[in-house]
Amino acid sequence: MILVSACLAGFNTKYDGKNNSHEIFEDMVRNKKAVPFCPEQAGGLPTPRIPAEIVGGDGFKVIEGKAKVLTKDGLDVTEYFIRGAEEALKLAKLIKAEAAILKSRSPSCGCRFIYDGKFDGTLKKGMGVTAAYLSAHGIKVIDSDDYLQGL
Ligand code: SF4
Repeated sequence: MILVSACLAGFNTKYDGKNNSHEIFEDMVRNKKAVPFCPEQAGGLPTPRIPAEIVGGDGFKVIEGKAKVLTKDGLDVTEYFIRGAEEALKLAKLIKAEAAILKSRSPSCGCRFIYDGKFDGTLKKGMGVTAAYLSAHGIKVIDSDDYLQGL
C-alpha cells in the first residue's frame, strides 16, 4: 500500500483550498493501491490557511527542534506540522505502507526541495516535516514530480 498526499488525489487540502490533482494518483486511490492523507489538515490547521515555510533548516531540523515553521505573516505553526507528521506515520503503519508519494516542494510533503523560508519562491534542498519524519522512521518517501517523470 502507498500513502499519497491527499492534494495529489484531488482533495482540496491545499493552503488556498485547491488541489494538485493528477489522474495517476486518483487512479491509485480508486484502485485501492493508495490511501490519501494531508498532514497539515490532520495536524489541526484549517483550509484555506496562510501559507507556511520552514525557517532555519529543513524538516529534519524542525523535528530536532532546531528550525521552525512560520506562516507568511509570522505565526509559529511548528507544532501543527509536527502533529501532522506524527499522524502520517500512524496511518503509514496502520496500512503497512511500503512507500509514501508526497507532493513536491511542500513544507510538509516535499521530498527533495522546499521553499527557503523567505516567501519569495526560492527553493533549497531538503525535505518537508512529514517527509523527514516518515523517512526517519523507515518509510520510503518519493517526490511526486520524480514519480511522474519516472513513469
Ligand atoms: Fe498536499 Fe501535503 Fe500540502 Fe496537504 S500538506 S495540501 S497533502 S502538499
